[in-house]
Amino acid sequence: MIEIENLGKRFGAIQAVDGITLKVAKGEVLGFLGPNGAGKSTTMKMIACFLAPSAGTARVCGFDVVDHPIEVKRRLGYLPEGAPAYPDMTPLGFLKFCAELRGFSGADRMKRIARAAELTQLSGVLQQPIDTLSKGFKRRVGLAQALLHDPAVLILDEPTDGLDPNQKHDVRNLIRAMAPEKAIVISTHILEEVDAVCARAVIIANGRLVADGTPAEFEARSRHHNAVSLVLPAAHAASVATAIRAQAQVAAVEQVDAGGGQARLTALPKKGQDIAATLRDMIADKNWPVTEFHIERGRMDEVFRAITTGANGHA
Ligand code: ATP
Repeated sequence: MIEIENLGKRFGAIQAVDGITLKVAKGEVLGFLGPNGAGKSTTMKMIACFLAPSAGTARVCGFDVVDHPIEVKRRLGYLPEGAPAYPDMTPLGFLKFCAELRGFSGADRMKRIARAAELTQLSGVLQQPIDTLSKGFKRRVGLAQALLHDPAVLILDEPTDGLDPNQKHDVRNLIRAMAPEKAIVISTHILEEVDAVCARAVIIANGRLVADGTPAEFEARSRHHNAVSLVLPAAHAASVATAIRAQAQVAAVEQVDAGGGQARLTALPKKGQDIAATLRDMIADKNWPVTEFHIERGRMDEVFRAITTGANGHA
């Protein structure tokens, strides 16, 4: 549904996007991750026909964004960065205006507005000037606008930014519910969001695509993939840490205060290997007074840092 090849955008001396190639299929939610200024929004703007590429091509449902922008826009809903809208309009007025631009009128237009308002839970504020809405409601007005024509492709630039935890939960559920029938791209700085809604994520840094994988594949690159953390009385921590450190599969053992006279030890495996069984046997054999035992999947924030700054991945 989305095919991008060697896409590039230059603003004067700034190479904002530098040769990005990727595809997104129907049923897929792709996460765009990357540091500030990496080129995520610029890439989204080019897919949405909001900016013309300086190099490469982008196609939506087979239509080229430069040659057939109207056909692309028919099939695409776009929530721009910051969800801009006309501040003196009400959400109802704004959605009527957007629906009209898309060629809807009469009962069909009102039905579409009611549906989009219901999906984004806007019904209570439809008559209130957008200017006076909270940040979360403003964003949901932008999201409603993107859904009016039930597009096959959705490009959502930070859809949950500014939403409270309940609203974030609702918008993630909405994205998940729409996913089977659409191709969806979301950009986010919230790494848990990738695990919550994305089948796949790409990391963009300095305008280039530097990593592409499933959330599980990213987690497997973390130093904490298959790490085991134990909570036990602090008085035992030093001797237990020494015994665990002596195991050949263990790269390091970290210790932090867990409060109440307890310590938390985290054993990091070499090359992400499974150390849980070995540690379970040691606890049983040596009768260590362990009150918590937890196996980690890996930390997205650590992998993100490693990929975008060159810090260490797993041991
Ligand atoms: P953020 O996470 O902060 O939203 P981003 O990954 O979306 O960042 P972009 O907004 O795509 O990054 O910006 C990429 C680069 O292009 C930045 O250096 C930015 O300053 C620059 N840039 C974006 N739009 C323009 C423009 N219209 N004119 C000049 N430079 C621009």
